[in-house]
Amino acid sequence: MEDYRTHTCGELRLANNGETVTLAGWVQRTRKMGGMTFVDMRDRYGITQIVFEETSNPKLCEQANKLGREYVIQVMGVVSERTSKNKNLPTGDIEIIANGMKVLNIAQTPPFTIEDQSDGGDDLRMKYRYLDLRRTPVRKNLELRHRMTMEVRRYLDSMGFLEIETPMLIGSTPEGARDFVVPSRMNPGQFYALPQSPQTLKQLLMVSGMDRYFQIVKCFRDEDLRADRQPEFTQIDCEMSFVTQENVLQTFEGMAKHLFKEIRGIELKDAFPRMTWADAMKYYGSDKPDTRFDMKFVELKDVFAKAPGFSVFDEAKYIGGICATGQADYTRKQLDQLTDFVKRPQIGAKGLVYARVLDDGCVKSSVDKFYDSEVLNALRVKMNANPGDLILILYGEDAMKTRKQLCELRLEMGSRMGLRDKNKFSLLWVIDFPMFEWSEEEGRLMATHHPFTHPKDEDIPLLDTDPAAVRADAYDMVCNGVEVGGGSIRIHDPELQDKMFRVLGFTEERAQEQFGFLMNAFKYGAPPHGGLAYGLDRWVSLFAGLDSIRDCIAFPKNNSGRDVMLDAPAKLDQKQLDELYLDIKQKGNE
Ligand code: ASP
Repeated sequence: MEDYRTHTCGELRLANNGETVTLAGWVQRTRKMGGMTFVDMRDRYGITQIVFEETSNPKLCEQANKLGREYVIQVMGVVSERTSKNKNLPTGDIEIIANGMKVLNIAQTPPFTIEDQSDGGDDLRMKYRYLDLRRTPVRKNLELRHRMTMEVRRYLDSMGFLEIETPMLIGSTPEGARDFVVPSRMNPGQFYALPQSPQTLKQLLMVSGMDRYFQIVKCFRDEDLRADRQPEFTQIDCEMSFVTQENVLQTFEGMAKHLFKEIRGIELKDAFPRMTWADAMKYYGSDKPDTRFDMKFVELKDVFAKAPGFSVFDEAKYIGGICATGQADYTRKQLDQLTDFVKRPQIGAKGLVYARVLDDGCVKSSVDKFYDSEVLNALRVKMNANPGDLILILYGEDAMKTRKQLCELRLEMGSRMGLRDKNKFSLLWVIDFPMFEWSEEEGRLMATHHPFTHPKDEDIPLLDTDPAAVRADAYDMVCNGVEVGGGSIRIHDPELQDKMFRVLGFTEERAQEQFGFLMNAFKYGAPPHGGLAYGLDRWVSLFAGLDSIRDCIAFPKNNSGRDVMLDAPAKLDQKQLDELYLDIKQKGNE
């Protein structure tokens, strides 16, 4: 049998003029004009125009007129220079004058148009994701993803990392989310947990002497979903032995630079800035600050404390402001919108105070009646504001909560002012994370990163006296306000690990039960080690300028964790349940 095609639909150029070719692909669309039928034929590589001429081949032309959208066809013909060229198409200088055609498969009319700007809504496109993937913008995201994983492998291989697979059916892992579990038929009543990450396994590989490990690996976390979360997502998971924090940061900063250069053609020469977690919270109210723009927080409590009388500010524990350069002409309506924005339940601010710096340098504020010009001028100076600037102020009883609210306002202003350009990249490391954070839900300290994270040497004594003040050798890489990766230096001393479990409220039995294998392994000579995991989906969506990681995943889940194409999750047959010794409790009246 002859080959299905001699060329792809994206390949032919003027240089091929006169060649006899065979193409195979899908019918994107057909149109009849004069005595001719034009078919746009598509495959992964592009689109080529096919011409069927009524005069020279009426039978073939009639056949072409019957083609429906998305029919799979094979066309034989001769490459010919077009009279009216299409500059938007790489193949736009030529067309194929068809002299033969075979319908390889017919197709039902697709539920939405397979074009760059589809008319299909999100749900419909997800239900027919295999058709959605035929669309160029979606396919491009997958191509980009492929190129990125290839470059990741190339870089890590050149640095001596070994790609090692770890199992999916394991026990509970320590990342602090809910596990997805899988019942074991052979061990009735017992369950595997799917890895939230291969954290413990990669540490074991260090005990094994593998020295440098990586894996592009699926991780599973049963969490509520948002635009940048999926129940299963992909990490570029890495671990290294005999390294300091500095070694790890250098290695993975190198990888980020490699990706920027190879994928985006951007040479990032400077070292990425490093910001302590404490500063990130103080100046940006976030552990993943968007540093594409400045607009840092200024603490204003002392400015207003000089003239008590406005009870709202007098009683506030924290007052913080941002300066929106050149926005003094914000209208009443715009300011009302901003007030509504910060008061939304998801943000929860009590109110918004603003101050405009007028052309003459005078300050006109929403709290003029409480403060004289001296205080308002002190505000302007402290904020480093100039004529034409708009100062926006939030206040509250809880400094951390108020800073988070101010962070939302800062990001909103950044967006409104066009300062969050998707083609501009600002990277940094956030370091010195707190070792623990208080969990209201659990009523105890929890590991901010995970329980194997090494505390900063100088803070180890605080584990006994003031654990909440202990900082960790933990780091996140942040790009444009997105955490693109994070990791830590690990504890390799069994005694220190024991202590950590105690501070975290684990009984010895529970620690043994959950992580005994790791503790035992550490008794056999664990090297000092540390690592990091990058979120591949987030990297791809950053590079592709996407709003959601869903768009760079071939078959993503929706916000309720459903795969609407496969209609999963689904109920099990009674037979399967019986085999697994499972009884399903009925929920409510369902
Ligand atoms: N396992 C960690 C995570 O998934 C990353 C690391 O510490 O290497 O966040």
